[in-house]
Amino acid sequence: MAHNIAVFSGDGIGPEVMGEAINVLKIAGARFGIEFSFEPALAGGCSIDEHGVALTDSALRTAKESDAVLLGAVGGPKWDDPKASVRPEQAILGLRKELELFANLRPVQVNRHLLHASTLKPEVLAGVDLMVVRELTGGVYYGRPSERRTGASGREAVDTIFYTEGEVERLMRASFDLARKRRKKLTSVDKANIMASSRMWREVANEVAQEYPDVEYEDVLVDAMSMHLIRRPADFDVIAAENMFGDILTDEASMLAGSMGLLPSASLGEGSRGLFEPIHGTAPDIAGQDKANPLAMILSTALMLRLSFGQDEAALAIEEAVDQVLGNGYRTPDIAQPECRVVGCQEMGRLVRERLGGES
Ligand code: NAD
Repeated sequence: MAHNIAVFSGDGIGPEVMGEAINVLKIAGARFGIEFSFEPALAGGCSIDEHGVALTDSALRTAKESDAVLLGAVGGPKWDDPKASVRPEQAILGLRKELELFANLRPVQVNRHLLHASTLKPEVLAGVDLMVVRELTGGVYYGRPSERRTGASGREAVDTIFYTEGEVERLMRASFDLARKRRKKLTSVDKANIMASSRMWREVANEVAQEYPDVEYEDVLVDAMSMHLIRRPADFDVIAAENMFGDILTDEASMLAGSMGLLPSASLGEGSRGLFEPIHGTAPDIAGQDKANPLAMILSTALMLRLSFGQDEAALAIEEAVDQVLGNGYRTPDIAQPECRVVGCQEMGRLVRERLGGES
């Protein structure tokens, strides 16, 4: 039976990178005998333009009825009014919440052909292969109250970080299970010296750690972690963090790989249906110019094949095709180096398809 994929291309470069990713998937499907059906739907700014809301009930239904969701990215200057009550990112928060996707997996590997694309020294980057697991449905993104008001001394604002022990426990369990399949090392990140929510996070994390004696476990404060991540990134395997700490640390970690245009992510819940998206945004500065790097979106489809459909062989073939294209010296402008061949988004997609063994 065909795997039913909900496709939210989104805004800005979203449709450009999604087009290349879908074409790559079709070639992978033909080569490995996997059938896909693609169900397009609107989310973000394009949905606001069309329907007045970032995510309609019907689009949400499309996602809920799918076996997996692919998402480009949403947002852009057109919808950026901070006072607007309807905002593109409501689509993402809505999808995460409604699909109960509580763990965001962000693998960061430094491709051997791109050791020089990062601003860090190649010797610091050698061997980097880490996975940040970011909690996705709690913390400051959903905590209430979150508001501005006027107090005795003028403008005031408040945000709330709220976690239940159950939310921390399931995230830590997912992280330990992953660590078991990798290098058996887990770093939990918090700010337990300051925040009550972090102290509970650490307590629960330590309790879950007792069940995984085979996994080497440590707690690290988030400020120290931001330093370790660029000083000795190869020392880390799985890094588990609450929502906002994970958000910030993954952008930092993306720079190890050289560009946000290279990094995929998977958002998972209890079931097999996940949401797969690049970690980058809509890149309004390069949208519509065929300059976007489609590799993060393409690699997100590989994650989908592996994590939602159990198609490890097809996933690996896509990853190898990407590696070959980079090995052959092709680069989009964001990762361009001297002596390389600079290509656009469409040509990069075509090259990956060619290496994957399909018609170009
Ligand atoms: P961004 O990731 O869109 O861009 C940051 C920089 O990285 C830009 O210079 C951009 O050109 C570059 N870049 C990003 N992806 C690239 C790619 N695939 N290829 C080449 N270069 C790439 O972040 P931003 O500028 O902070 O945000 C722009 C918009 O995207 C905002 O509206 C923001 O809200 C939205 N956004 C959406 C998501 C999402 O939908 N998940 C995530 C982050 C930002």
